[in-house]
Amino acid sequence: MIPPIANNFVAGESPAEALEHVEDLNERGVSAILNLLGEHYEERPPADEDAAAYENLVRDIDQSGLDACISVKPSQIGLDVGDDVFAENLTDIAAAADEHDVFTWVDMEDHETTDATLDVYEDLTTEYGGGVGVCVQANLKRTEEDLERLADLPGKVRLVKGAYDEPKAVAYKDKARVNEAYRNYLRYMFREFDDGVAVGSHDPEMISLARDLHEEFGTDYEVQMLMGVRDDAQYELAADGVEVWQYIPYGNKWFSYFYRRAMERKENMLFALRAVLGR
Ligand code: FAD
Repeated sequence: MIPPIANNFVAGESPAEALEHVEDLNERGVSAILNLLGEHYEERPPADEDAAAYENLVRDIDQSGLDACISVKPSQIGLDVGDDVFAENLTDIAAAADEHDVFTWVDMEDHETTDATLDVYEDLTTEYGGGVGVCVQANLKRTEEDLERLADLPGKVRLVKGAYDEPKAVAYKDKARVNEAYRNYLRYMFREFDDGVAVGSHDPEMISLARDLHEEFGTDYEVQMLMGVRDDAQYELAADGVEVWQYIPYGNKWFSYFYRRAMERKENMLFALRAVLGR
């Protein structure tokens, strides 16, 4: 059982608890991206187990009629075991998701995984005509070239600033430089992408820029934010007609995820404490 303080950032341990959260969220006009917590499996059995859990989850989403999709971490479904294991598991998940009409996102991990992730993504999004999306990171210098490759493919792309501490040979380290790259990449995506743009950020400046770019280019977009981070802003944007998706982690490996969220910003910890204290 997840303590209430962690419950602000993680929807529960079971798929049923996660779907209960999705029901509330959908009522507020926000759609859901479900992520079963787990990463960096070095053996095949847990990777296959989580892949099977996602195949069950897409069936449950379909049966529930809720507005939800999934987001999968490559190292959770076998990338650390082998590129072939990752490709096999993601192919099975994408096939099950397609059968149940559920969209599949592929999260992006550190820069050493980018090529393997994009290669499998390219095959699958081509096969499923855009029913799969992938995340790219503004802090990586290579992203400019990756976006050119992705612009020619069906499928949605989520732009984030990047969560991994990367070496300076491959990444911008300065926050202002990352923000500049984010703005430039966002502009490129609104100009060049046909299948819509996903703005994976809590940053009011980037969300406002996306609104302006939508006005300028007419490209569809959605805003994606994490559960427990600027929840009120998520509801307000949705009420204002913006397509908003909340990324919702769940599962029994919740502790380290909650710890990271709580520690990364003072506001997160205060928010979690206020929720527990009921004020
Ligand atoms: P920051 O640069 O952290 O902050 C900018 C501004 O946003 C702040 O000044 C503040 O105004 C507002 N803000 C940010 N956080 C808070 C908060 N907690 N409370 C109140 N205001 C806040 N990273 C990856 O590397 N790979 C992925 O696959 C990936 N997927 C993601 C999916 C989603 C849906 C989201 C939202 C993020 C994902 N990330 C991923 C993480 C991402 O890379 C960033 O680390 C994270 O989003 C923080 O950057 P930011 O753009 O939100 O804003």
